[in-house]
Amino acid sequence: MIRINEHYRKLKASYLFVEIAGRVAAYESAHPDRPVIKLGIGDVTHALPPAAVEGFRKGITEQANDETFRGYGPEQGYEFLRDLIAKGDFAERGCEIAADEIFVSDGAKCDTGNFQELFSADITIAVPDPVYPVYVDTNVMAGRTGIWRDGRYDGLVYLPGTPENGFVPPPPSEPVDLVYLCFPNNPTGATATKEQLAEWVAYAHRVKAIILFDAAYEQFIRDDSLPHSIYEIDGAREVAVEFRSLSKTAGFTGTRCAYTVVPHEVKAFDSEGTAHAVRDLWNRRQSTKFNGVSYPVQTAAAAVFSPRGREEIRARSDYYLANATLIRETMEGLGYECTGGINSPYVWIRTGTDSWAFFDDVLNRAGVVITPGAGFGLHGEGYVRISAFNDREKVTEALSRIRAAL
Ligand SMILES: *Cc1c(COP(=O)(O)O)cnc(C)c1O
Repeated sequence: MIRINEHYRKLKASYLFVEIAGRVAAYESAHPDRPVIKLGIGDVTHALPPAAVEGFRKGITEQANDETFRGYGPEQGYEFLRDLIAKGDFAERGCEIAADEIFVSDGAKCDTGNFQELFSADITIAVPDPVYPVYVDTNVMAGRTGIWRDGRYDGLVYLPGTPENGFVPPPPSEPVDLVYLCFPNNPTGATATKEQLAEWVAYAHRVKAIILFDAAYEQFIRDDSLPHSIYEIDGAREVAVEFRSLSKTAGFTGTRCAYTVVPHEVKAFDSEGTAHAVRDLWNRRQSTKFNGVSYPVQTAAAAVFSPRGREEIRARSDYYLANATLIRETMEGLGYECTGGINSPYVWIRTGTDSWAFFDDVLNRAGVVITPGAGFGLHGEGYVRISAFNDREKVTEALSRIRAAL
């Protein structure tokens, strides 16, 4: 008799965005005349930058001719793209990352979700609270947690993000083996300083832990003192893996291209205490389970690194950041305390009330979709997230509806 992976039974009934979609669908069918404005899920609305489209076309044209056609590509990504990433995203910021430490993929969601499988089933894992749900759920599926109880999974170390720590949790007092960090943060929009990341790097060295650093939103940083990469911190090459994505930075949510950086120095230990290069384990994993990203997507991604591509993505992030400023100013004007919206496309708003009730209120009275903080963890209760990813007119309209409704 075929049986299921019992760990799946521990998962909370519904993925946050599935629950939201259900409530929005119910509202829409009850109010067909009142179009909702979505500032909920973090999805971009602008078309691909023209430079990327040109790169895409070039790749397709090559695939359409026998002379230039390419079949299976390298699982790690084409060298032309990995070289551009190493130079444009790291060397130019003073970080030493080699092209063979970069693994191109179809998403940071997949990579942050898959990476845990390189490690033992009995390691201790720390996650921020509130948190991007992928980090947690993938470890639940892998059997690294106990059951869901009182809003949390047994066996995980939760790192509370609070107004007191500016939503940048410090390292815990106990040792853990694997830590997930994300800055600029989803959902809180908080950013970490070099000093704060240095504390985490020192902690990881001390307890022989690995930090999985999600930098999906680094493109939104405008404050020059803030680190874009964890490799701007001394010692990070030994203890940190970094995830990046073109999804939010270059409008690739529907085109799919991301990458993961695993420096040669990052080590994990076997049962006999022998150190193994995590880079080689990830390479082995990707070679076995992944076929690489489609060639035209990689030529499109490469074009994002051209001077024109960079200008275009900068203009897009400027646009979304201007939306974020409007959102933050409006909500502050209504008397709410806000985090994020500066160096980040998300505004995290303290409502002080039940966050699903606030979500329902904004949906029913303003026809605007936001995200209830409770969906991101126990410490998200009393907060909501508003995303800046939409057209200016829609954001302005949503904010005036919210102003009228609240
Ligand atoms: C959107 C997002 C990503 C990017 O995911 P992709 O799979 O590359 O689209 C990664 N991490 C966080 C926290 C995100 O919000």
